[in-house]
Formats: sequence, C-alpha cells, structure tokens
Amino acid sequence: MAETAQPVTMDTIVSLCRRRGFVFPSSEIYGGLGSTYDYGHYGVLTKNNIRSLWFRAMVQERDDIVALDSAIILNPRVWEASGHVAGFTDPLVDCRTCKLRFRADQLELASCGRKPSKRPGETPDCDLTEPRQFNLMFETHVGALQDASSAAFLRPETAQGIFINFKNVAQLARRKPPFGIAQVGKSFRNEITPGNFLFRVREFEQMEMEFFVPPADATKWYEYWLEQRLGWHRGLGLREQNLRVREHSENERSHYSSATSDIEYLYPIGWQELEGVANRGEFDLTQHTEHSGTKLEWIDPDGNRYTPHVIEPAVSIERIFVALLCDAYHEEVVGDRERVVLRLHPQVAPVKAAILPLVPRDEGMATRARALYEELRRHHVVEHDDSGQIGRRYRRQDEIGTPWAFTVDDQTLEDETVTVRDRDSLAQERLPLGGVREWLENALQQDWSSPPSP
Ligand code: ATP
Repeated sequence: MAETAQPVTMDTIVSLCRRRGFVFPSSEIYGGLGSTYDYGHYGVLTKNNIRSLWFRAMVQERDDIVALDSAIILNPRVWEASGHVAGFTDPLVDCRTCKLRFRADQLELASCGRKPSKRPGETPDCDLTEPRQFNLMFETHVGALQDASSAAFLRPETAQGIFINFKNVAQLARRKPPFGIAQVGKSFRNEITPGNFLFRVREFEQMEMEFFVPPADATKWYEYWLEQRLGWHRGLGLREQNLRVREHSENERSHYSSATSDIEYLYPIGWQELEGVANRGEFDLTQHTEHSGTKLEWIDPDGNRYTPHVIEPAVSIERIFVALLCDAYHEEVVGDRERVVLRLHPQVAPVKAAILPLVPRDEGMATRARALYEELRRHHVVEHDDSGQIGRRYRRQDEIGTPWAFTVDDQTLEDETVTVRDRDSLAQERLPLGGVREWLENALQQDWSSPPSP
C-alpha cells in the first residue's frame, strides 16, 4: 500500500462529506444560508456516536456526574446575570472598499473580497473601520407581542442552564462537591465570520460539563479535567502530533477565570481550539445568586457554607467531527487502484460492518448474506450491499470508514464460513458464519489507535 495523500485540505473533507451524504449545505434549493449545514444519514450516525461516547465517558462510567437537559430559551435575566448581554461580543470591522465584515481579532484567518485574495488590511486599498463590539446572541420574542418586554435569546452556550439548576440537582441527585452536571444540546451564536466548514457555524451542538468543587481543590481538578479530556480525544484515535494544549495568557482569559486552556487540533486551517477547559471560579454561581435572589451555595453537614468553584470542559460535536474526519482521511494506492479510506475509530464509524454476497444472483449466497445482515442489524448499524463488483463495494465502504466487511462466497456454501476483511490492513481471514456476531462484538470492544502512516 502506498500513501498518495498530500496534507488533507478542508475542501477534500467537504467534498467527501457531500459525495457520501455525511453533510449537505443547508437550504440548498433556496440558494443556501451561509455556513449552515444539514446532516445526512452517515453524518447523523457519526454524530450520534460522538455524542454517546462523550456521554459514556462523562456520565455513564462515573459516580460523580449527572445529566441535565435544560431549555434553549431561558429567562432573559439569565443572560444579564451571566454577563452575555453586556459582554458576549466580538470586535467587528468593516472594509469600506470591499464592503465585507471581519472579526478584528482574527484578520489573519480571513480573506478580503478582492482577487487575488489577501488578508484584510494587507493591501493599500483596504480601508478598515475601527473595531466595534457586536453581540453574538440571536434575539427572538416569546409570545404574541413583539416588544422589549418579550425579547429573549437563543442560548449561546449550554452552561448557564446548568448553573441555574445547581440547587435542584444538588438537592435531588444527592451529590456533594466535587460533582458535575453534564449537558449536550444546540447552542446558537451569530458569528461574524462563520466558515471553514463545520468549524465555525452559527448553530452547533455543545457538550459541556460543569464540575463543582471546594474552592481549595479547584486547581487540582482543573489539571485533572485537562488531562482527562486530552486522553479522551487521544482515545478516539486523534493522532498525538495533531493535538496540543495551549494555555491562555492572562489578558486572553475572561476576567473571572483563573486558568483556561484550549485543547487544540491541527486542522487544515492550522492549530485551532477543539475544546476549552476553564477554571471559572465562583463567578457563575455568585452572579446567579445576586441576580435571582436564590442562594446557590453548598452547606456542609457541619454547617460550613461556601460557593463551589467550577471547572468546565466545553466542546462541540462539530469541531470533533471535523478533526476526526481530517485525521482519518487517507488516499492510497492498493495494487493498481487508488482508494480513499476513512480510518475512523470503529466506535465512531457510522457503519460497523458491511455484509456482501459475492455473487448476488446466487440464491445460496443471497439468503445467507441477508440472514446474517438481519441478525447483525438488531445489535449494530450494518449495511447489506449487493450492487456492483465486489471491489467497488469494498471501496464504497472504505470511503465511509466501515471497519469490517463480511463476504459470503463460494466457500460459504461448502463450509458455512465467511471472509472478514479489515479496512486498515486489508487482511482477510475466515470465520464461521455462526460466530460473526460474537467476533464483531469483541472487535468493537478492542482499544484502537490510528494505524501509523505507511
Ligand atoms: P472561538 O474562540 O473559536 O470562537 P470560544 O472560545 O468562543 O471559541 P467557547 O465559548 O469556549 O468557544 O465554546 C466552547 C466550545 O464550543 C469550543 O471549544 C468549540 O468546541 C465549540 N464552539 C464554539 N463556537 C463554535 C462555533 N461557532 N461552531 C462550532 N463549535 C463552536
């Protein structure tokens, strides 16, 4: 096998996603809506896998974290207390020449409107305005009246829904600090310059966990969560050389945060934030206590009161999705044919196995393949494919990252065994037909790391 790949570009990933129905531009028949996407079948399956792996690591396999699903539209006072109404802004600049808008703090990532494209401000013709602050929250109205009293916001993060439920959860879930509340759900930000495919979109699915700890232990837990989350990304197969931690400098951090680090991934657009881990101190619970009048604090059995400090790991499914696809994408030559293969972690891969009758017209093969498919699909997402040459069918599965293919062939009719083909090594072995389900179950439980590049 010879690797032919240049470094993968975002365009390559976008075109694979489109071609194989992972992700489509949204509202396409109406001309689209900038940087908004819809997920097709394989995209939904992959997203579901990412979400449930996160939930398993953050909630199911722990004693100290519980789940929450709060509303998207909250009382607008929540966003006053949290500081979002006054301060959830990005600096915006306009170019008077090309009439485009840019984020003043990210000019190096933007292209100006003229050809050949340059960075905004790079040419003498660029005429940028002074930066002004632009609030990223989407505003809406609740109820029939559309006046100031009915204004509300789509949440720009899931975290505030957690803080305002601190008292409910602490009482009812019978947890004491250190304990966490985890939430997955859509967040909305009216980004000035969305783009780079799913990396920066206006509607995304966040996975956040707020971990409430005694103040003296905050630094210890911050370091713990940074390590845990980095380990989780590695466990999904993201390659070591494409991951790093970048600690925010003091002037980059929110005023209330005593430490923040980004787990960065080397996307085709360069090193960028994949996940943020922040020590938010007591800011959020104190703010909501002051604004709501409800005391959000912890009282020890011996009567000691304190406001827990909060450690927050926050990430979006979209940024993980793009990182996983970029890391997994390979073009290589096998024999005299090129193939595109997505070397995804089997637990992330949208389809776990393909069942392929070698000669679909052969009734013995067709019946056995169909029966195997019907047995396996009760437990896993698998596909039955009986159209086209076998080589083509393998390549279709390689391109969507299916880790294994079970082929029913002539020998199956003689000895009731099938061939299993491995997506990465292309090794083939034979298995008894009756043992396929157990084999697949075991294979899915194995640790997996991205195979070294040849
Ligand atoms: P950035 O600096 O890239 O705008 P941020 O620091 O504002 O990101 P946070 O508020 O820390 O991001 O959000 C937590 C996580 O949510 C990010 O680490 C990222 O994974 C995800 N995220 C934030 N904004 C977007 C977006 N517009 N599209 C997709 N994911 C996002």
